[in-house]
Amino acid sequence: MHATNERPLRIGVVGVGHLGKIHARLWKEVEGAELIGVFDEVAESRDAIAKEYDVLAFEALEDILDSVDAISVVTPTFAHHAVAKVAIARGIHVLIEKPITTTLEEAEELLSLAITHNVKIQVGHVERFNPALLVVEPYLKNPRFFESHRLAQFTPRGTDVPVVLDLMVHDIDVILSLVKSPVVHIDASGIAVVSEQVDIANARIKFENGAIANVTSSRISQNPMRKLRIFERDAYLSIDFATKSAEVFRLLDEEAAKAVTTPMMRLGQIENAEKPRSIVYERPVVKDLNPLKHELELFLHAIRTDTEPIVSGIDGMRALKVANEIMVSIASQTI
Ligand code: NAD
Repeated sequence: MHATNERPLRIGVVGVGHLGKIHARLWKEVEGAELIGVFDEVAESRDAIAKEYDVLAFEALEDILDSVDAISVVTPTFAHHAVAKVAIARGIHVLIEKPITTTLEEAEELLSLAITHNVKIQVGHVERFNPALLVVEPYLKNPRFFESHRLAQFTPRGTDVPVVLDLMVHDIDVILSLVKSPVVHIDASGIAVVSEQVDIANARIKFENGAIANVTSSRISQNPMRKLRIFERDAYLSIDFATKSAEVFRLLDEEAAKAVTTPMMRLGQIENAEKPRSIVYERPVVKDLNPLKHELELFLHAIRTDTEPIVSGIDGMRALKVANEIMVSIASQTI
């Protein structure tokens, strides 16, 4: 990925709880990167992870920032802004876990600091690197309707923010990346069930181009699910982020059906059109890749090539803005 005469990019991980440990493990595997060390405000956590990966355990944020070129910010969301702000001000590139920050003002401040200090911000909307989404993207022409379900079993982790910011924000970001049109209306409901914050929510998002997204998230579900179904003229596409699989159903005329190269099945014929068309079912071959490792690799690539990260700070802020509007809509409903 980098020229052989370039030294590896020196990496630190700040916050090594549940997800930060995984960042540390995967950074060790990324070609062109060198994990220098970790910092966590809990000494036992940083010492344990540093020992496991044979890297340094830094005792202060400032110390790790003196030794690296880029960091993963994997603290709870409320601390993203404070950590990233100090890092960016020192010219350190930041991969900030999702959601980018708790408030839009915080996100705006980070974005403008990043411009001043010429550093990259990437946001950890990891589903964008999920191979099941990547394989479906080339099929999409003009998505009109989205139905997403992101359901998880309860865990106290992440309950410092409502489920909209914890889980739904993944689908908001994916959908915003697929619909290139502004949001014009949001109607949402949700309630707190177990935590002090909204635990289950549904939002209907309307876009200026007429596309609609019906988005459901819960963190109090018995059976986990992470699915996105996309409908457009002549096609229905289904993505299972959890199993990393995808299904595509398309209406194709004979010529187009013959050109399909993935394994396919004809499920029937539609005769009442000008040209007879087949309902063609495909299960595209999904690449075997780890989405989080791919996310780290592409962050490194954006730094090396001085290009915009795939999930930029602006993307993170847009997703947060829509999530906030969903929360406002929920607050205005009484159920
Ligand atoms: P966690 O509570 O397991 O870990 C957070 C760690 O950060 C803890 O070890 C804590 O001691 C440390 N910490 C807290 N404040 C700190 C500070 N100021 N400086 C240094 N360390 C600090 O949380 P988690 O589940 O690992 O979540 C971390 C982040 O990752 C959250 O923003 C969450 O939304 C995000 N997350 C993303 C995904 C995803 O799919 N992309 C999944 C889970 C969590």
